[in-house]
Amino acid sequence: GVLNPEAEPEDLEESLFSLRPGSLSEYVGQAETVETLQIAIAAARKRGESLEHALLHGPPGLGKTTLAHIIAHEMGGRLTLTSGPALEKAGDLVGILTHLGDGDILFIDEIHRLPRAVEEFLYSAMEDFAIDFVFDKGVHARSHRYRLKRFVLVGATTRVGLLSAPLRDRFGIFRSLDFYDDADLVRIVMRSASLLGVPLLREGAETLAKRSRGTPRIANRLLKRVRDYAQVRGDGRIYEDTVSKALTLEGIDTMGLTPLDRRYLQTILSFYNGGPVGIEAIAATLQEESDTLVDVVEPYLLKIGFVIRTSAGRRLGSAAYEHLGFPLPQD
Ligand code: ADP
Repeated sequence: GVLNPEAEPEDLEESLFSLRPGSLSEYVGQAETVETLQIAIAAARKRGESLEHALLHGPPGLGKTTLAHIIAHEMGGRLTLTSGPALEKAGDLVGILTHLGDGDILFIDEIHRLPRAVEEFLYSAMEDFAIDFVFDKGVHARSHRYRLKRFVLVGATTRVGLLSAPLRDRFGIFRSLDFYDDADLVRIVMRSASLLGVPLLREGAETLAKRSRGTPRIANRLLKRVRDYAQVRGDGRIYEDTVSKALTLEGIDTMGLTPLDRRYLQTILSFYNGGPVGIEAIAATLQEESDTLVDVVEPYLLKIGFVIRTSAGRRLGSAAYEHLGFPLPQD
C-alpha cells in the first residue's frame, strides 16, 4: 500500500516521493553486482524461468532493498517485504509464502535474524517450492505437502557469517555491496537534488558526498537537512559552505563521522588505551547494543582504517589518532 499509517516518517516520504532508482540502469555504482543481476535476469527471462534466489550482503543503507524493488520490477513480479525479526513463528512465514504467485519476489531483510524454527520452513520452500506440514506427534505423525508457486527469495543481511550453511547454500546468487566512492555519491545526491527540485552546486555535492560515510541513505538524508538549512538560513541554493554549516550543526564532522562514531573511537582511546579491546567491553562502556556497533558503526570505521580488528579485539588505526588530534602511541 502507498499509505501505510505505520510507516516510519522516512518510509512514508519514501513511498510518496521516492528517491529510489527504479531500474538497474538508474542504480549508481556497485558495478559487479549490477552486472551479475543484469545477466541473471536476462538469462532467466530468455528461458522463461524465474530468477534464482539471491542473497545480498552489506551494511545498512547501501541499496539492498532498492535492488529487491528493481528485481521485482525487471522480472515483472509483485514484491512482498518482510524481515527476519518480523517472522516470529513458522505460521507468519507460511502465511506469506502461500500467498505468493509465480515470479513474485519475497524480500527478507535481516535474514540472519530469522528464528531457527522459521528458517527450517524456508529450506524446502526455497528448494522444492513446497512446505511440509506435520500433523500429530509420535507414531500418529502424518505429513502433508503443500505446493508453492515459483517465487524468488531475495535475502538481505548485514552479517553473512551468522547465516547457517543450509540457508546460505540455497541461494544461487550471492553478492556483497561495498561502500560507495565519492564520485558515485556525487551522482546520487545530484540526482536526488534534481528530483527534489533543489539547486545543488557541484562543490556542495562533493562536500556532501565526502561526509556521507559512503552510504546513499545517509547522503539522501543529509541532503534533506542541508536543503532545510539552505531554505531557512540561505537563498535556497546549496553551496559548499551551506553543506559545511548544516552538517556541523547535525554533529557530522569533516570525515562524515557521527557523534556515536566519535564516542566509539574516544572510548577505545581513553578507556582502553587505544585497544585492543573486545566489542562487548566497548558496548558496555558506551551503553549501546553491540549489534548496533557491529552493524552500523564499525563497518565504515574499518573501511577507512580508523579501527583494526585483531584476534585480541579492536584497536585504533593511526588515522584515527590523527583525526581525534592525539599523538600516536610510542610503540
Ligand atoms: P538497504 O536495504 O541496503 O538498507 P536501501 O535499498 O533502503 O538500503 O537504500 C537506501 C536509500 O539509498 C534508498 O532509498 C535509495 O534512495 C538510496 N540508494 C541506495 N542505493 C542506491 C544506488 N545504487 N543509487 C541511487 N540511490 C541509491
